[in-house]
Amino acid sequence: MSDLDRCQSILADLIAFPSVSSESNLSVIHYIADRLERAGARVEVLTDVSGTKANLFATLGPERAGGLVLSGHTDVVPVADQPWRSDPFKMVERDGRLYGRGTCDMKGFIATCLTKLDTLKAATCDHPIHFAFTHDEEVGCLGARDLVDVLKARDIRPAMALIGEPTQMRVIEGHKGCCEYTVTFTGAEGHGSAPEKGVNAIEYAVRYINRLLVLRQALIDRCPPGSRFDPPHTTINIGGLKGGHAHNVIAGKATLEWEMRPTSLADYDLVQRDLAQYVGDVLLPDMQAIAPQAEITTEVIGEVAGLTPMDENAARDLLYRLTGANTADVVPFGTEAGLFQEIGMSAVICGPGSIDQAHKPDEYVERDQLCQAMAVLDRLGETYGRHDRD
Ligand SMILES: [Zn+2]
Repeated sequence: MSDLDRCQSILADLIAFPSVSSESNLSVIHYIADRLERAGARVEVLTDVSGTKANLFATLGPERAGGLVLSGHTDVVPVADQPWRSDPFKMVERDGRLYGRGTCDMKGFIATCLTKLDTLKAATCDHPIHFAFTHDEEVGCLGARDLVDVLKARDIRPAMALIGEPTQMRVIEGHKGCCEYTVTFTGAEGHGSAPEKGVNAIEYAVRYINRLLVLRQALIDRCPPGSRFDPPHTTINIGGLKGGHAHNVIAGKATLEWEMRPTSLADYDLVQRDLAQYVGDVLLPDMQAIAPQAEITTEVIGEVAGLTPMDENAARDLLYRLTGANTADVVPFGTEAGLFQEIGMSAVICGPGSIDQAHKPDEYVERDQLCQAMAVLDRLGETYGRHDRD
């Protein structure tokens, strides 16, 4: 059986686990754990507090700092209401394409890693190769957040991370962050004929939105020259505003959904500081002057760290050597890479398949993309240990 056929068969197994983010991912994690263990890896399954989700961290080679992490997420987005031509959880091949939910995003990459375990193991005499397979990436990188905390707490210090999100094997060194918030305004209801006697939650939500729009312009104005992101600046989007009951009732509650995609930690900090100040110094005092119990609460739905392009990036340079590429791009979608960067590792994104197919009906990965990804892992096996990995 050729490596490609083996890879295809492993991928079919992975696709058959319907590990949608809302469901448990334990069965797919145990499948992966089993394959890694049989290849001689030390495997740890790290279950979350609910007991229904788990990350997997595994190591081939010596127990020491440095080395490379191959990383991917095991959850997939839902298929509900999507017009699929075939069962999304039963992989089928048509014209060199493998169709199924998660084929490109991103079980294809995991399948290539599992196919090449022997090659990778043979390369790890001096330096380890780790595997990090996470849960709940699609709903805010929740699993990876826990995993990097574990690495930090245990002082496990890999030097580099390769995140195999679908880039058609292009080398990617940056993306914006993605932060989503739901802000709830609680005012005081009253009769519509006497607006001054209540606290209209919608009106305060609108003032908050206006502040966001001022910030949005400020972020455009302070965009650093030469930014390679598209658009080049940090963005803010108002996604939803709900509240109120009827024409003649002062709205007692309003909820606002908005998101920010920061190009830098500095922009992120600016927005957080400004909003905290505006709420604390202006909006809340105004509301509580009329109704002391009025409040504004912010729920963080997800904060995915951005991956900041760096002049020095050992993981990117490693991928240059493995792929033959000599330039790296930035992408508009978020990944777990920024979380690894936050704990001092260099991180790069490169994986089989195209993001154009991700999250869509009839998601597919081309067999040729899996070949290319496995060729990169082969070259990693051949050259690992001959370059500075720590
Ligand atoms: Zn993904």
